[in-house]
Amino acid sequence: MKRTPVRRHHELHRSQRGGWLRAGVLGSNDAIVSTSSLMIGVAASEASPAAVMIAGVAGLCAGALSMAVGEFVSVSSQHDAELADIAIEQRELVEAPAAELKELAGIYRERGLEADLAMEVAQQLTKHDGLAAHLRDELGIEQRGRARPLQAAWVSALSFATFALVPIAALVLVPGHALYAIPTASLAGLAALGAFGAHLGGAPIVRAAARVTIGGGIAMALTALIGRLLGVAAG
Ligand SMILES: [Zn+2]
Repeated sequence: MKRTPVRRHHELHRSQRGGWLRAGVLGSNDAIVSTSSLMIGVAASEASPAAVMIAGVAGLCAGALSMAVGEFVSVSSQHDAELADIAIEQRELVEAPAAELKELAGIYRERGLEADLAMEVAQQLTKHDGLAAHLRDELGIEQRGRARPLQAAWVSALSFATFALVPIAALVLVPGHALYAIPTASLAGLAALGAFGAHLGGAPIVRAAARVTIGGGIAMALTALIGRLLGVAAG
């Protein structure tokens, strides 16, 4: 179908980016906190730098894969639900076009249009692309925003793996001082991520950075304590 291009007045609506932004920031925070805590826990048990490195790399792989599987499963079920809705809508449009037209007009009346205008809008949109109109205005499914399981899986795996490299790189650069290098690099990374996420989302920057840094610091300190206790018990 041919469409005339429409120049749109474009505003920056930050809340619309909330979904993927939240997922991205949460995934990368997760990667830094879990990988660095794992490495710090092992380091605190007085294991060798090689063992700490193996723990870090294993943590990176495990985290990236579990993120991929988890995202794939959850986005797939959303995708299936959308497909089922689309199939129902398609069938209804074929089997009961008059009822569907009335339904669509009813939706526009509820949104504030007068009855005649609502019916006219419904008729024109049905002629243009009835299925798209029903999906969008009845079910809230936008073609552009459809769930993509594979994309969600590899994006989250990749972002986890990337940010898990922060504590691993710290150990590579300063191998003799795992218990200083890993938390320092990781907390700096968390602060930067928190600030970046807040900046993109238009939220207060210092508060966001402080929140993730303190949260991450607590996680690392607790795992260090547990690693230390286990190291003492095992040694
Ligand atoms: Zn419908």
